Amino acid sequence: MVNRIKFQGILLLNICLLIISNFVNAGRTDWSVEKSAAFWNEQARLSIEEILQRRDNTRIAKNVILFLGDGMGVPTVTAGRIRKGQMKNQLGEDYITEMEQFQHLGLSKTYNIDAQTPDSAATATAYLCGVKAQLGTIGVDGRAKRQNCTSSIGANVSSILSWAQQAGKKVGVITTTRITHATPAASYAHTPDRDWESFNTKTFGIKQVEDGCRDISYQLVTHKPPIDLILGGGRRSFYPNSISDVEYPTLNGTRTDNRSLIDEYWPGSFIWNKKQMNKTILGTTKPLMGLFEYNHMLYETDRIKIKENDDPSLSEMTKFAIEHFLTMERNGFFLLIEGGKIDHGHHDTKPRYALDEYVEFDNAIGQAKQLLKEKGVLDDTLLVVTADHSHVFTFGGYSNRGSNILGFASSESLNVSDIDQLPINIIAYGNGPNYRSNRNATYLASLNTNSTEYLSPTAQPNQDETHGGDDVPVFAHGPWSHLFIGTMEQHTIAHKMAYAACWGAYTNRNGCPSLANRTPATTATTTAAAARAATARPSGGINLFHQFNLIEKVLSFLLILIFI
Ligand SMILES: [Zn+2]
Repeated sequence: MVNRIKFQGILLLNICLLIISNFVNAGRTDWSVEKSAAFWNEQARLSIEEILQRRDNTRIAKNVILFLGDGMGVPTVTAGRIRKGQMKNQLGEDYITEMEQFQHLGLSKTYNIDAQTPDSAATATAYLCGVKAQLGTIGVDGRAKRQNCTSSIGANVSSILSWAQQAGKKVGVITTTRITHATPAASYAHTPDRDWESFNTKTFGIKQVEDGCRDISYQLVTHKPPIDLILGGGRRSFYPNSISDVEYPTLNGTRTDNRSLIDEYWPGSFIWNKKQMNKTILGTTKPLMGLFEYNHMLYETDRIKIKENDDPSLSEMTKFAIEHFLTMERNGFFLLIEGGKIDHGHHDTKPRYALDEYVEFDNAIGQAKQLLKEKGVLDDTLLVVTADHSHVFTFGGYSNRGSNILGFASSESLNVSDIDQLPINIIAYGNGPNYRSNRNATYLASLNTNSTEYLSPTAQPNQDETHGGDDVPVFAHGPWSHLFIGTMEQHTIAHKMAYAACWGAYTNRNGCPSLANRTPATTATTTAAAARAATARPSGGINLFHQFNLIEKVLSFLLILIFI
């Protein structure tokens, strides 16, 4: 009798746990289960357990991937999470993104040495080259002043891409912007002005060349050693203004020096559409450059709508790059992967574009993590996700749970403005073009806030919405991810990645294989393997939701036993 009661008790407990774990696990469309305190208590217990099981991964990072969400401040991460969940027909607020499953998290202080609110050029110099610099400058230290070539002579600083090359790694740069734009440029170029992308006479010309500077496009194709993989947009600055674009015959190149840079200087292969990318034999050691658009690449929201479009998505480029490098090389790689157009959507105060770009950026992270796991190299790969700067983007308004993040706060009295009794937008910007937007009731009712062209209301007038000065998140996973915690200066990110991988100034840090043992590459692999074996520990914690899956499996097994 006692046994029977005990069995029934266990059965009941198992059923309860199964229900709770299923509710937490599955994406939810209502929140009734959350009325129970047990739901929250169990979720918290599992969260603590997961953290307690973590062990620091102190392997040497064989591969490093830096994911850079341009303009992805904390409000974008939160609103992007909700958008991603809602695109999957869930409430959204409790959705779990790829980046937030990373083990460690910190905040990065983004200011430039001369600017409270930074730009993408000097911030890229910080997180890629390890030094803070003046606004608008790329790959040069703080002595270089924007637009002043002479001030930049002798001020060059090298980037983690070069440090990785010196360590014998394959390197790649992927972006959805022009490949010569600020973020990617800081990995390979040195210039006191981010606008010196092309020899076009307007922004950069003979005077700058005479002073000793080179345009960014020229620096890319002549980089030594060549970058193994380059994927992005921006063909225009590589061709003379007398030559029409390969995809858009009515558009010409921007160069006024009559140079066709890819034909004349690029030592590798060149492709310009997805078909060619998919036909590329993975693992070919010849450098590869794919420039898929004349200017920036399209917003993901538009790319998927245009049937004849033959550009790859950020996820597709990410998958290609990782498979390419893993097929090519056993000695490891460095990849910079930029979701560059989150920033563009925000500058235009078009949140649909910005948040959908965030979603695709997060998809690319998931794609990378899954692929590395399948190939058995996840624990040898340091993944860092961060932003260069934030935006004056905000959301709120006491909206009901599950409210469309792109819409108005719900029309219950609490959520209507107590000044004009009209609905208020969930999303707004601190500045931008839609200043003093019309608040006529009929007009508000006619708006489609889900449209890519909808402009959010802004508090102050400005043609282009500006960056924000708030700290941005840094998520890290893999070897030495525990270095990326707390509030950090942005330039320390480059150092922490190099420390984890024994690159650059950290080549001989304690724990790195000695230089003598590292060449040739085969010895390096053996030495690294030995070093790994010596420091091998269970890597990382178990993800909360993997744990739920495990619990479900165990409980199902128990239930079957009980029924038998
Ligand atoms: Zn920007």
